[in-house]
Amino acid sequence: MIVSIDTGSGFCFGVTSAIKKAEEELQKGSLSCLGDIVHNGQEVERLEHAGLRTIDYNDFQQMRGGRVLLRAHGEPPSTYATARANGIEVIDATCPVVKKLQERIRTTYIQHPQAQIVIFGKVGHAEVIGLQGQTDNTAIVIEKPQDLDEMDLTRDIYLFSQTTKSVDEFREIVNRLKLKVESSHLDIKLNVEDTICRNVANRVTQLQAFAKQQDLVIFVGGQKSSNAKVLFEHCKQANPSTIFVSSPAELSSTELLSTLNIKLSTQKIGICGATSTPLWLMEQVRDQLNKLTIQ
Ligand code: SF4
Repeated sequence: MIVSIDTGSGFCFGVTSAIKKAEEELQKGSLSCLGDIVHNGQEVERLEHAGLRTIDYNDFQQMRGGRVLLRAHGEPPSTYATARANGIEVIDATCPVVKKLQERIRTTYIQHPQAQIVIFGKVGHAEVIGLQGQTDNTAIVIEKPQDLDEMDLTRDIYLFSQTTKSVDEFREIVNRLKLKVESSHLDIKLNVEDTICRNVANRVTQLQAFAKQQDLVIFVGGQKSSNAKVLFEHCKQANPSTIFVSSPAELSSTELLSTLNIKLSTQKIGICGATSTPLWLMEQVRDQLNKLTIQ
């Protein structure tokens, strides 16, 4: 039996550097993080044991002084304003890719005040809130092609995307929007900026290629992570012998054991995960699997 971990799985560089920053800053003194640093309970717990306190926006508003880390998703300008007003030191771990996108949106908003800024993304997602904030919350958020029906087709349009959206869905939105603009026969400008982060967009193809090479795939992901659910489905499409676990302990459940007992004799077992799955968790799953094999 060969057990391997997908080298492409796990945190993207934006999340990895935010965690590294948190660990470095914790050496210097107490530190809070505004929101979960990553959508993975075990990793949040690990950092909380190291001293990182996770706070919400209410706590942040009430805080006076202290140090707060802003996670990779980024924040709207109002968060920085609150920090200034409350004497809070900001440790900015916004991913450089998100930072650049925020700046692009801000510049567009300032240079084209009459235009409509449209963001393809999830309403209420932390990154999207940060992006909308660059436009004083005037940007429209489109979640699906049908939402385009709500749009005002008399003004120039600047379309951007949340960094973690699917490239195919973005293309569909662009094509629909182009058709709408053409059929309106109005002289408006449609400016499309594909701002999807390839770090995540290329994951599906890489993950499916990995899954196809395995006899059994163990996908490790958080129960609450939407990225984990989506990637698990893609994995299952490529290899129907894919199971989902959130922790090594789940490998010992009776139901899973019966699945594994049939499959453990298989030649190749691959372990992979979502963009929010830490490498150490996949390694623990591998170790647990090895223990089961020895027993
Ligand atoms: S997905 Fe891309 S843009 Fe988003 S945090 Fe990761 S590296 Fe940065």
